[in-house]
Amino acid sequence: MKSVSTPYHYCFDVLGNPLRISIIQLLKEKPRSVSELSKQLDEEQSKVSHSLAALKKCNFVEAKRDGKKLVYSLRETFLKNMKGDNLFEAIEAHYKEHGPNCWRCE
Ligand SMILES: [Zn+2]
Repeated sequence: MKSVSTPYHYCFDVLGNPLRISIIQLLKEKPRSVSELSKQLDEEQSKVSHSLAALKKCNFVEAKRDGKKLVYSLRETFLKNMKGDNLFEAIEAHYKEHGPNCWRCE
């Protein structure tokens, strides 16, 4: 197949998982730590950490150290677009900014 589009699907792939979508929904409200997220989602910390690592590799989230804990937040461009609740626009903006550096985008 001849593709006429930039490879946004790599970034969509990373989001194709209910836990990751839930994490994004929670981080849209405010930055949170792994333990806060796993409590909110009633999910094991290891699974939440694994999902966060994937979201971080694909540049959807970033982690900042706050004392002893790491606090995760949505990256600014993605957050701004997510506020409008338009996922496709959010991914497009995300890809424009980070695409070549995203997970599996080589
Ligand atoms: Zn990405």
